[in-house]
Amino acid sequence: MIRDEDFIKNINVPGPTKEEIRCIVMCKSEVSCDDIVVDIGCGTGGLTVEFAKRAKMVYAIDQNSLAIETTVENIKRHGVAGNVVVKEGDGLYLLKKLENFDILMIGGSGGKLQHILEKGYKKLNVGGRILVTSILLETCLEAVKTIEMLGMTPDVVNVSISKGKLTERGTMMLANNPVTIVSAHKS
Ligand code: SAH
Repeated sequence: MIRDEDFIKNINVPGPTKEEIRCIVMCKSEVSCDDIVVDIGCGTGGLTVEFAKRAKMVYAIDQNSLAIETTVENIKRHGVAGNVVVKEGDGLYLLKKLENFDILMIGGSGGKLQHILEKGYKKLNVGGRILVTSILLETCLEAVKTIEMLGMTPDVVNVSISKGKLTERGTMMLANNPVTIVSAHKS
């Protein structure tokens, strides 16, 4: 797993998703080398790069041009330019233009989560996975409700990580903000 400090950052772009959260997302997604992944709200490219190291192809989408620039820089830095296609725009709109895929990762939806999930579900191959990372309770709830409405069973995990920081007196544990990961399989 890539360390957080090895990503190029832009103060105006959120991310990268923290290393330990990326670990859990990779496991829950069951990503393999045959998978086509769509990452909506790619931000800094933290999850895009991790998926690109493991999948056949990743479509990285963000509506913020600075996020697109930062993702492109990180794709180059981590040597995965060969299997990532980066698209600037609204994920809901750009989903229409994509062929079917195996993994739908939603890291940002700008109030359109339900519609993105509905549209994404139609293009998700049978056996495919959906993952939503959220820092807001409302986003988590919307993901759970929509996934149930689509006939899938949501798996909901709230992750609270504390990391050790070396101080003169010893190792001090500093808490990261909790992140909820909602995931589901299409059968
Ligand atoms: N997972 C990323 C961080 C995601 S931050 C990483 O590891 O770096 C969330 C991103 O979602 C932001 O960059 C925001 O611009 C984007 N976003 C929000 N709503 C969107 C939408 N409807 N379509 C595309 N991108 C969106």
